[in-house]
Amino acid sequence: MTVGTTFKFKVCLVGEAAVGKTSLVQRFVLDQFEDRYTSTLGAKTTKADIEIADPQGGGTVGVSLLIWDIMGERQVPDRLLEAYFRGTQGVIAVCDVLRVPTIDRMQDWVQMLYKVAGPVPTLYAANKADLLQEASVTFVEAELKARLSSLHAGPIFTSAKTGENVRKIFSRLAEEIVRQAGTESPVAGEA
Ligand code: GDP
Ligand code: MG
Repeated sequence: MTVGTTFKFKVCLVGEAAVGKTSLVQRFVLDQFEDRYTSTLGAKTTKADIEIADPQGGGTVGVSLLIWDIMGERQVPDRLLEAYFRGTQGVIAVCDVLRVPTIDRMQDWVQMLYKVAGPVPTLYAANKADLLQEASVTFVEAELKARLSSLHAGPIFTSAKTGENVRKIFSRLAEEIVRQAGTESPVAGEA
């Protein structure tokens, strides 16, 4: 049970089709949390309650993430995308490490989201890391860094298949949002 302040954040996963957005959400939720998947037109929303380090002190705070997973990336009309992105407080942009064009497209998705939601905390998931050999990790990391030079934080290699860094990236995002929000908008007592 969560004691103390609970934050509620809307977060979005963006990126090209088949990079692993839905798989990351499923891995995250099934590994660590009981939850239900709710289908809506063009998007799925999943609620996940996690505990993160309290930026104000030594303890932890409860964070309720409402995760929006866009479906049918290429078909969703701008108007609907706007509705999905509105009110988003953090974003995870996802690429497939074996498909370089999906790396470039991450920034396009992030910019689309920023136009609606503002420059919210953003993390980059270099997904399907399990498919890489050691040597190509270095190559892909160099590619990512070259293409995402404006990032304040480097990409995080994730694998929905093995679970590598999946929990970490969602926790890190929650921590970033709490840090940037400071003490604003706590929702006390809600889970
Ligand atoms: P989405 O369109 O971005 O939601 O992508 P999906 O989650 O539907 O995944 C697309 C395909 O990639 C599926 O066949 C997944 O099983 C596969 N996939 C997703 N994440 C990973 C991963 O981390 N490693 C591997 N090997 N395959 C993955
Ligand atoms: Mg999907």
